[in-house]
Amino acid sequence: MSKPNTPEDFWRRVERGGPTQCWPWQASRDRQGYGKLGYKGSHWLAHRLAYTFAVGDIPEGKIVMHSCDNPRCCNPAHLECGTVADNNADSIAKGRRVWATGIRDGNAKFTDEQIRTIVRHPGSNVAVGQKFGMSHSWLSKLRRGLWRKDALLAAAAAREKEEN
Ligand SMILES: [Zn+2]
Repeated sequence: MSKPNTPEDFWRRVERGGPTQCWPWQASRDRQGYGKLGYKGSHWLAHRLAYTFAVGDIPEGKIVMHSCDNPRCCNPAHLECGTVADNNADSIAKGRRVWATGIRDGNAKFTDEQIRTIVRHPGSNVAVGQKFGMSHSWLSKLRRGLWRKDALLAAAAAREKEEN
């Protein structure tokens, strides 16, 4: 029997970068590309361990989602607890599935144009999120500038142009 893994063993396998960068898992991964590690007698996905160690226990029935869409990433700043429904909404929003407006590219997310429209749309995170198929927690991140900064900067630049 090898000795059980500790949180330190876990973090040693994560290439920790800057606070906003992805922190890729450096050890074994599953077929979907998620990191994995045995901990306390169970098989864990690495990003779930990262969340548990950095934030706390994952509530029953909740999943840990990546804002960066990088399955290897273990940066707690890129992880968020949600429900399967949130994750599905997020997947749809990001265009991983065929989406009603016709974004079919597997990696396509909201276009900058859509981000601009959504950010400007008045209403609560929940109401606006529902209208555009974005989970309210991601919309809140978007509005706080924690997600899609590139698109927000593009939107700000476009706004300036319109005003001048
Ligand atoms: Zn990441």
